[in-house]
Amino acid sequence: MIASAESRSEECCGFLFGDEDKGDRRLLRSLGATNVAVAERHRRFEISPLEYLNAEKIAEQHDLNLIGIYHSHPNSSAIPSLLDTQLAQPFFSYIIIATKDNKAEDIRSWRLNSKFEFEEEEIFNQTIQFNN
Ligand SMILES: [Zn+2]
Repeated sequence: MIASAESRSEECCGFLFGDEDKGDRRLLRSLGATNVAVAERHRRFEISPLEYLNAEKIAEQHDLNLIGIYHSHPNSSAIPSLLDTQLAQPFFSYIIIATKDNKAEDIRSWRLNSKFEFEEEEIFNQTIQFNN
């Protein structure tokens, strides 16, 4: 993970693009987004509707699906917060990158189940870089 100075203590976030085959998702591309949360950016993130719209366009242009969102948890675990659960949308995979001293310590992926609770998704291999 490459984090800019600005995102080191604040949560960074972005979009995940890929495709899906028989329930298995393949992550092919990531795109950093701006954390526009008005407060407490060290423990929360928000992406503007305009950036969502732009991400949808990029997905279409590259014949990919917008399959999820990634964000970091600086100096915390890669487990969704209560707020993450409350703000999550069905379908999306949520990758959380736990960072310590600006380095990725743990990467886990989560998806809402039919009861709107997060369930962990297995990550088979990880080759993608999360840029921000
Ligand atoms: Zn979070």
